[in-house]
Amino acid sequence: MERRTIGDCLRQPLLTSGHPSAPGRLDLELLLASVTGRNRGFVLAHPEYLLSYNESRLYHQLLERRLQGEPLAYILGYREFWGLTLKVTPAVLIPRPDTELLVEQALAHWPEQSRAVTVLELGTGSGAIALALASEHPEAQITASDLSTAALAVARQNAANLGLRVRFVHSDWFDAISGRFDLILSNPPYVAVDDPHLRDPALQHEPRMALQAGPRGLNAIARIIREAPDHLRPDGLLLLEHGHDQGAAVRQLLANKGYQNIQTLQDLGNSDRVTLGCWPGAERHTEDGALPKSWTSS
Ligand code: GLN
Repeated sequence: MERRTIGDCLRQPLLTSGHPSAPGRLDLELLLASVTGRNRGFVLAHPEYLLSYNESRLYHQLLERRLQGEPLAYILGYREFWGLTLKVTPAVLIPRPDTELLVEQALAHWPEQSRAVTVLELGTGSGAIALALASEHPEAQITASDLSTAALAVARQNAANLGLRVRFVHSDWFDAISGRFDLILSNPPYVAVDDPHLRDPALQHEPRMALQAGPRGLNAIARIIREAPDHLRPDGLLLLEHGHDQGAAVRQLLANKGYQNIQTLQDLGNSDRVTLGCWPGAERHTEDGALPKSWTSS
């Protein structure tokens, strides 16, 4: 095989354009960084660098996988989220930039407590959300669950790599969870089974259980909303990521169950993406002993 320079390889888009999974220039830069064992800065600064035979062969193999539609994060084996480098494998959903909104909102509503704040993340996958919160609040007691033991292994490794403290639990939603939390959050599966989005070639590589959730995509969300009150402290907060067209349904589910202060927030693309609700707690009274106004029927 003919040896090529980094500059030659970066001219590849001309050759692959028109291909259904044509990688962008950033993808090529990151692949080149990976095969040369350097960072992207090196790749950008050294178009004259001549790839070794091994590097060239590896580059071609990785590029071929990319052209077959495999997501770049799985090929590289990592993805950045909230400024953290996370290991990802096909056992976990690739963390999306939109999900940073969930982290942002958890931080914006972070409870003020004199003791350590307790947090539960359900369906943690790579651990992205729990680890992002742990990086911001190392003193918090954060628990993260997943039904997939393969995902939990990836999440545990991420925690170890980053030196962050999260307690990981194998659980089907709340089934193996005990205790109550100030904050519960989740990016559960929320795509409807017949949503054409599920046929998107990029999604074929990701775990179906992390994406698909019943006929309207609301099965997991409804279950979490139903069961969370048994695990929230009084005034505890539930935050959920959901589909762009599920905001009204999620608000309704929360309202029906008795959550309060319900609001939906939009992601960077201006789509409804996160809805939160506060669990008042059964015995809650206002300062003067009367039930909160919002509890009286109107
Ligand atoms: N937002 C993801 C997507 O568009 C879905 C993630 C999820 O179901 N939690 O593929």
